[in-house]
Amino acid sequence: MANMYYEKDCDLGKLDGKKIAIIGYGSQGHAHALNLKDSGCDVCVGLRSGSRNWEAAEQAGLKVRTISEAAQWSDIVMILINDEVQAEVYQQEIAPYLEAGNVLMFAHGFNIHFKQIVPPKDVDVIMIAPKGPGHTVRSLYTGGKGVPCLLAVEQDATGKAHDIGLAYAAGIGGARGGVMETTFQDETETDLFGEQAILCGGVVELMKLGFETLVEAGYAPENAYFECIHEMKLIIDLINKGGVAMMNYSISDTAEYGEYVSGSRILPYEETKRNMKAVLADIQDGVFAGKWIAENKNGRTFFNAKRRQLANHPMEVVGAELRRNMLWGDDVDPDTASN
Ligand code: NAD
Ligand code: MG
Repeated sequence: MANMYYEKDCDLGKLDGKKIAIIGYGSQGHAHALNLKDSGCDVCVGLRSGSRNWEAAEQAGLKVRTISEAAQWSDIVMILINDEVQAEVYQQEIAPYLEAGNVLMFAHGFNIHFKQIVPPKDVDVIMIAPKGPGHTVRSLYTGGKGVPCLLAVEQDATGKAHDIGLAYAAGIGGARGGVMETTFQDETETDLFGEQAILCGGVVELMKLGFETLVEAGYAPENAYFECIHEMKLIIDLINKGGVAMMNYSISDTAEYGEYVSGSRILPYEETKRNMKAVLADIQDGVFAGKWIAENKNGRTFFNAKRRQLANHPMEVVGAELRRNMLWGDDVDPDTASN
């Protein structure tokens, strides 16, 4: 079992007098910066000069500097820009300003684990990885709750890395939900596996194939959308709240019987498990990371083509139309979509 920490185990005071630079103001960046500020920390956001987010961050009451100025000013640097650009930005705008005893932080282990970033030995290297989108990190915090986080310490140059990590987790509200201790390796590998096999890759493929099967059989695409895509959230909310048992309690016995007889026909046990293990092996061996790094160096031709293809898929086209006509419209803001 993993070590779990909660607010009572964290001392926010460990951040007293520490200057914290949050690099990036996207999904995670805005949430970490605002939550830490509201927790009483000394925060500054680091952005590219001319960034669209500069004004938004200032409007929200945050100090903003260029990335290199923020890095220079700070004791703790949390890097919250896209994983695939972190190595370059780190080299040019962060590494030159790291001093002995500084703290370098990440919300995902990719660049450290796959050695795209190799920090000097005299700084702490810590990960606080919220297990949820940044917009939820913010909305739960303001509502008095928090998104659970993973904590990992890769380098402990000061001997205080663990306490600093816990304090940071408390500052963004994560300790209200629980902080699980792990390693950069485990976080990276499980995070990549989860999003590929289940959360993003698995779920989207499942919904797409279900939608196509119904439409090809002559059923209305609107019907297929409601059934295979819209309802997914309603079902997941029940599982999220009370486990599969709560879903089974809410659905009919007919649905539950169908779950038992058809689930394993759709995802044959042996074959699916074998495929999942192969996906995991590619992640563990660095095969996936190598491909993704190469894809970014080669102008993302595959990635962009897949994105275009998906946008034109009838499930996306029909879905957009149906959501637009729902009473509450389609102006779902990612800030509130997760609740
Ligand atoms: P995001 O795409 O929402 O935001 C990234 C920000 O970086 C954007 O504001 C973008 O303008 C900026 N940026 C991009 N390229 C840049 C460059 N070259 N120089 C300076 N700024 C640049 O990303 P995010 O989802 O907030 O992810 C940030 C980190 O958090 C990543 O390490 C990610 O793995 C991690 N993380 C994300 C989630 C999530 O659900 N979104 C969850 C846990 C951890
Ligand atoms: Mg994740």
